[in-house]
Amino acid sequence: MWQWAAAGAVGYEAMTNVPSELRSALEQEVPFSTLAVEVEAQARDGTVKALFRTQDGHPVEAVLMRYRDGRRSLCLSSQSGCPLTCSFCATGQMRFGRNLTASEIADQALHFRRVERVDHAVFMGMGEPMLNLDAVVEAALLLPDLGITHRRTTISTVGWLPGLRRFVDEVEEPIRLALSLHAPTDELRSELMPVNDRYPLRAVLAECRRYFEVRRRKVFVEYVMLRGVNDRVEQARALADLLDPKVFKVNLIPYNPIPQRKEGARGGTMGSPTPNPTGMFDGSTRKAIAAFKDVLERAHLPATVRLTRGRDIQAACGQLAAVGPSGS
Ligand code: SF4
Repeated sequence: MWQWAAAGAVGYEAMTNVPSELRSALEQEVPFSTLAVEVEAQARDGTVKALFRTQDGHPVEAVLMRYRDGRRSLCLSSQSGCPLTCSFCATGQMRFGRNLTASEIADQALHFRRVERVDHAVFMGMGEPMLNLDAVVEAALLLPDLGITHRRTTISTVGWLPGLRRFVDEVEEPIRLALSLHAPTDELRSELMPVNDRYPLRAVLAECRRYFEVRRRKVFVEYVMLRGVNDRVEQARALADLLDPKVFKVNLIPYNPIPQRKEGARGGTMGSPTPNPTGMFDGSTRKAIAAFKDVLERAHLPATVRLTRGRDIQAACGQLAAVGPSGS
């Protein structure tokens, strides 16, 4: 039955080598998915965002990104909402629900597998995966059956050290690691990402180096480009000084503005790193991103600029907040 599900079967009725009485009994008694699809939206670039509900009513979002070279990449959520409050992230502004179960994580992937073949997955949706490591790893270990190898699976963290240490020590599969860094100094990083007060840069980077030593695989560093906040040339130099090119490669992420929530909004309201009077961050200009990348490359630190997908349906990085494509 798992083989059928992992190959994209749409329900028990498709499992033609399973006795029909058993299929009927399962139909009655075991829901085919732990998640119900509430809304699905497709962006002009082909990206699809699905908003699901868990059986106890928590919202969960996941995204299928379609690239021109044929790659089909899933962005999966590990929690409903997020207890951390990174100021530039829409998920950090919504109320935290709970950790998702391994089945609820795998069911996000299975939903898109029913649409088409998939080959990459990143745990960069709602939530901090290292706060829910057991369920995340349990789900990640199922992904090869869907066509997503461990080498094409990436778990991202803001640097939640207890989970990260366990990930390095306990997970033997060649699953990749990404670190959401976003600032080259503790001072700025703590303002953007309060988790940095608890687990400062030095300790988190040391753990990433340990991952490299144990696995011999580079760590992706995610760096969202915020205009006038973290995108200056001297900050690029500081980043290049911080990161060993043998261990890290940098992914610069054009910032996707997020709709601010009037009630209960927690982000975009701080002092110095909030550059615009509406309380929202602005994305860096293309010129600033190119200049930043240039500084990193001159320091021999590999850097790429991420292709933004699904911006028009709030499916891009940092935009997942369980709101519909029109912001409703
Ligand atoms: S960036 Fe990640 S850890 Fe930070 S609030 Fe958003 S989902 Fe949570």
